[in-house]
Amino acid sequence: MSIDRIAAKVVAGERVSADEALALYARAPTALLGRLADSVRARKHPGRLVTYIIDRNVNYTNVCVAKCNFCAFYRPVGSPEGYVLGFDEVFRKIDETIAVGGVQLLLQGGHNPDLPLTWYEDLFRAIKERYPSFKLHALSPPEVIHLSRLSALPVPAVIERLIAAGLDSIPGGGAEILVDRVRRLLHCYGKATADEWLDVMRHAHRAGLRTTATMMYGTVETDEERIEHLMRLREVQDETRGFTAFITWSYQPDHTELAGSEATGVDYLRTLAIARIVLDNFDNLQASWVTQGGKVGQLSLAYGANDMGSVMIEENVVRAAGASYCMDEVEIVRNIEDAGFAAKRRNMHYDILGDPIFRERDVPRMLELGTARADGDVTIPEELRLYPARSRAGKEARTP
Ligand code: SF4
Repeated sequence: MSIDRIAAKVVAGERVSADEALALYARAPTALLGRLADSVRARKHPGRLVTYIIDRNVNYTNVCVAKCNFCAFYRPVGSPEGYVLGFDEVFRKIDETIAVGGVQLLLQGGHNPDLPLTWYEDLFRAIKERYPSFKLHALSPPEVIHLSRLSALPVPAVIERLIAAGLDSIPGGGAEILVDRVRRLLHCYGKATADEWLDVMRHAHRAGLRTTATMMYGTVETDEERIEHLMRLREVQDETRGFTAFITWSYQPDHTELAGSEATGVDYLRTLAIARIVLDNFDNLQASWVTQGGKVGQLSLAYGANDMGSVMIEENVVRAAGASYCMDEVEIVRNIEDAGFAAKRRNMHYDILGDPIFRERDVPRMLELGTARADGDVTIPEELRLYPARSRAGKEARTP
């Protein structure tokens, strides 16, 4: 299969097959892959605008029974380092987010057996009561599946209840690679098979939610499996049109059980570019500067990305695995403009909200990302005692 022939198809706006995508990914020079991805981006986004969102990545608990071997964030049930955030702590984080122009929380956490569905519903309702227009981009598919198992309710019923409580959108976390061979090796098959992950998204889309999709590469998968992942996302998007965006990042190995080394910057740019080419039915691709750093994040704009992701006020998961890049709005906008684009703020649906907020009013500079909690803070929130725990450790901790 000639690379030139496949490249001509991409330029003509034709869809590539899995075999063609693999040939490009394996054999096309990086500069050509970039040019092809950039041509697809320019066709979808002709105005030379690059967007970003101001939000906060809050991890409500680090206690998790899933134990994925690539994860440095979780703590087992009963660990002295385990935490659950209190409602008041979440409100404080939202106040701080709104103060710098933020419009949503990206709210995700471990699979904590001691947090029943009612805890999530009460938290969401309390947030919406205080902050009616603030958005909740919350609970990745494996968390929804965990809640379905915990509450013995089918996934669509869990989604309906969460929407009724205030859920606005579902983040595409926990996808890793949507191939079950890989998921078994990463110990994440139990939390969600590839089909289960995709089915949660189908149900969410049918229920009227828009969601994102992700891919974490660089562990044990082959190139063929990366392409299979993209093909499976493309199929669901053909069915539902419910994905707003795709985000890919490389596995971060520090402090994980799996260990190993991190994929290179070129691997990242090639993977982003092939995703832009394959996912012809996705409008938006984000740059993952959080894992790649600002400089590769900026280069992503020439390899298919049209969005710089989030001005992330807080981050805990990637930091636990060794990456701690921080860019505030000033720095994100500087990188976008220096690459020759106009920078615009957006919401979770990629509607443009306006120009950079720091040009409209004084916003404090943010030179370090926040954390879920200060080191060593193991406070148990008062309201947790209202919710029944399932684990022995949870029951003991909640006994007055
Ligand atoms: S990746 Fe998520 S589900 Fe897996 S161990 Fe970490 S917190 Fe738990």
